[in-house]
Parts: sequence; structure tokens; C-alpha cells
Amino acid sequence: MTLAEFQQLIRDRYYATDSARGAPATFLWFSEEVGELAEALGHLHRGDGSEDDLAAEFADVLAWLATLANITGVDLTEAVRRKYLDDGGPKGTK
Ligand SMILES: [Mg+2]
Repeated sequence: MTLAEFQQLIRDRYYATDSARGAPATFLWFSEEVGELAEALGHLHRGDGSEDDLAAEFADVLAWLATLANITGVDLTEAVRRKYLDDGGPKGTK
């Protein structure tokens, strides 16, 4: 599955609900998922985590990022191409 296909899947499944909620409230959901990813990383670091749980939290964060892109009109594939591929990508840090 490509990034574009994933973004479209999230759009097909959730766009109506996501767009009605709006970007500010959706960003709160995204932030909550980032917190869950942090928690999964912490558990793994302390030795009481699960790689399956970690992978699931990465998936959640990507899904909510795709949601934010969908409701703000950003094509993630194009954004990544422009920032990270064109002209050799960013110089130095991200
Ligand atoms: Mg989660």
C-alpha cells in the first residue's frame, strides 16, 4: 500500500465525520495518539512493552496524520515529495 492509497482509505472511511469535527478538535485526537505512541515506546524501553502494541500506535498516529491532511487539503505524498525528494531534500535536520 502506498502513502496515497492509505490517505485515500482514511478519507473514504472517515472524511465526513472528520471534516465535521474540524482541524482543531482533530488535532487533539492526533495528539492523544502521539501520547499513546510515547507510552508504547516507554513500555518497550522499560522492557514491559509489546512490539505489536508499538506498531499499532504508529499506525494510529499515521491514520490521524492522514486525517488532518485530508481535512486541510494536503496531499501527503506530494508534500513529502516536495520536501524530502525535490532538490535532494532538506539540508541538515528535518
Ligand atoms: Mg492508539
